[in-house]
Amino acid sequence: RRRAAEDHLRKPAMTTDGTPVRVLVNIADPADVDGIDITTCDGVGLMRTEFLFGKELPDEETQYRAYRKVLEWAVGKPVTIRTIDAGGDKPVPGFTVEESNPFLGLRGIRLSLARPDVFRVQIRALLRAAMHGNLKVMFPMIAVPEEYARAAALFAQEARNLADTGEPHSIPPLGIMVEVPSVAIAPELFSDAAFFSIGSNDLSQYVMAAARDNTAVAALNSVTTPAVLRLIASVAEFGTRHAISVSLCGDAGGDPAAIPHLLEAGLRDLSVAPAQLALAKVAISGVRL
Ligand code: PEP
Ligand code: MG
Repeated sequence: RRRAAEDHLRKPAMTTDGTPVRVLVNIADPADVDGIDITTCDGVGLMRTEFLFGKELPDEETQYRAYRKVLEWAVGKPVTIRTIDAGGDKPVPGFTVEESNPFLGLRGIRLSLARPDVFRVQIRALLRAAMHGNLKVMFPMIAVPEEYARAAALFAQEARNLADTGEPHSIPPLGIMVEVPSVAIAPELFSDAAFFSIGSNDLSQYVMAAARDNTAVAALNSVTTPAVLRLIASVAEFGTRHAISVSLCGDAGGDPAAIPHLLEAGLRDLSVAPAQLALAKVAISGVRL
């Protein structure tokens, strides 16, 4: 099995009946890419930037260097960096607030929009890093279209500020995570977004009302439950009809038991934990669509 997995790692992923599937990796620490051969994956589908915010709020230069490192490693393959998704299961000291129900509170894009002082620093670092590769940026926990519009407006404003000071920059495609059910149910409200990436970890916890960090309800929290799968399939179908790319970057993407269902639902782009890359490719090769 190990030999088979290594074999698959070197080749592009494809189903038994020849449908290509792109397999990207999820990373957090920029150092994560040091152990990954770029030729074994199709890029980075999710860079979680919360890691950078671990101890203190990182300055623009620290963030710029971190993003640039990953973009240069990817040599032109797409790198999707997610703006900070603090809160919920990812508290950041000095940034997130005390709440009685953090999963339903001020997390992800909500907190970034509430703290433009912090968000603008990240935006400037991303705009500058975009010069060094194939960057895409996505916003976490989008629930209403206004959040996307406000975040995109901040990108436009900061781009103008950088232009005023002659700083090289470019505005990357701006997409959204599909992880709050309001987006999965009414994706047509979000068609300004350049792309969708399904966050199955949060989507399933919010659809099933089963916390992702509570093992007592882990059995309920499954992407292969009919309600969650139906939502995923309808988002994939919406994307096909409106030429908006739809990928998935939750842990289910690397789960061999879930992969046949996700491909059946119409997904062709999965972003997985690096440790799952080979297994995911093997699982894809066994699927007949
Ligand atoms: C998700 O919710 O599926 C996801 C990819 O984001 P995170 O696990 O970082 O919340
Ligand atoms: Mg999430």
